[in-house]
Amino acid sequence: MTENERFEELKRDYAELVIRSGVNIQKGQRLSISCPVECAEFGRLCAAAAYEAGCKEVLMRWTDDDLKRMKYLHAADEVFDSVDSWIVDYFTDLSEEGAAFLTIYAEDPAGLTDVDPQRIKRSQISSGKALKAYRKRISGSECQWCVCAVPSKAWAKAVFPELDDDEAVGRLWKEILAACRADSGNAVRKWKEHTDEIRKHVDIMNSYGFRTLRYRNSAGTDVTVDLPEGHYWGGGAESAANGVLFSPNIPTEEVFTLPVRNSVNGTLAATKPLCHNGTVIEGFSFRVKDGKITEIHAEKGEEVLKAAISVDEGASYFGEVALVPYDSPLSRSGVLFLNTLFDENASCHFAFGDAYPNIRGAEDMSEEELKERGVNSSMTHVDFMIGSSDLEITGITHDGEEIAVFRNGNFVF
Ligand code: ZN
Ligand code: ZN
Repeated sequence: MTENERFEELKRDYAELVIRSGVNIQKGQRLSISCPVECAEFGRLCAAAAYEAGCKEVLMRWTDDDLKRMKYLHAADEVFDSVDSWIVDYFTDLSEEGAAFLTIYAEDPAGLTDVDPQRIKRSQISSGKALKAYRKRISGSECQWCVCAVPSKAWAKAVFPELDDDEAVGRLWKEILAACRADSGNAVRKWKEHTDEIRKHVDIMNSYGFRTLRYRNSAGTDVTVDLPEGHYWGGGAESAANGVLFSPNIPTEEVFTLPVRNSVNGTLAATKPLCHNGTVIEGFSFRVKDGKITEIHAEKGEEVLKAAISVDEGASYFGEVALVPYDSPLSRSGVLFLNTLFDENASCHFAFGDAYPNIRGAEDMSEEELKERGVNSSMTHVDFMIGSSDLEITGITHDGEEIAVFRNGNFVF
């Protein structure tokens, strides 16, 4: 087999991973795929794998960074405040019917740098409101969904500026396949072994049922977080409302749950840049009081960050705490992917904005009840990285006992 044939085979294997382990499409189910036009070849591989698995119909939603940028720069101002009803119907009807959703990312990390952050914010607010029913079904894992990524030229060049276009794309493919454990065949089986490993840490965290976590490192993070009554940790694979196991993120290394909305206090200092809405935000930290971000400092991209935490009230509160060992393979690769799907899985992180309702019995609770438990609600959810080689996390049980969870950036157990 030539090297090229081998590469083609690995790509097919990766598409199969995304379809079988990611969304885990079932016979007779429909699948919506969002895919950049530049990556049409991979989109087709996913569609082929889905039909092979018995998918009833694949619905493609093509995206394009250049067109998105053009729209933000040149479209009439009022278009950012509304969403056409056919788009709302598309997502609402499909999620109600129990379809699955796959998003293929290849975003240029700095593709929207000179766009007005207010336009992005307004369009986020309008689509956040219009698509609320769909969003809640996704964050509540009612439907199977998965986010994965493939290289685009612009993204690959941002990660490997020293390489020429083709080399950069080839190198990013290699790093992505390695991060997804899809670089040596049998990706579906290896993924299962990997997610089973993650479950071990999930089970340990669940057996402690900590009341509080305390974080500290030399980068400046010094924060305490309470976890809600009845919370549970998740990671690896999840179960949808129909009982089907799926992996919402490929790759994934994290073990995650949610904080009590008003319980976060202290300072959170980012240890990696954050690429958000087409801008790279660097060297930033948050002061947090009773769960709310009260101060922001960023060396770069401060305006975009300020816009991001103010799309609605919940955006300045937190919705996720996630544990990732500093020596995870993704972290050891040393590559800064400039893409949260990858960088969050190389580092412990928090997210501001919407919380995944990881509380036992949440599916039967009203919005009000969830709020009372401390579940944050927002139309945004943005992960940012705070892990480091010297991060210490201590868990405090309901009896006040202190247990070392992380030392030197890694799980103690
Ligand atoms: Zn996360
Ligand atoms: Zn997240």
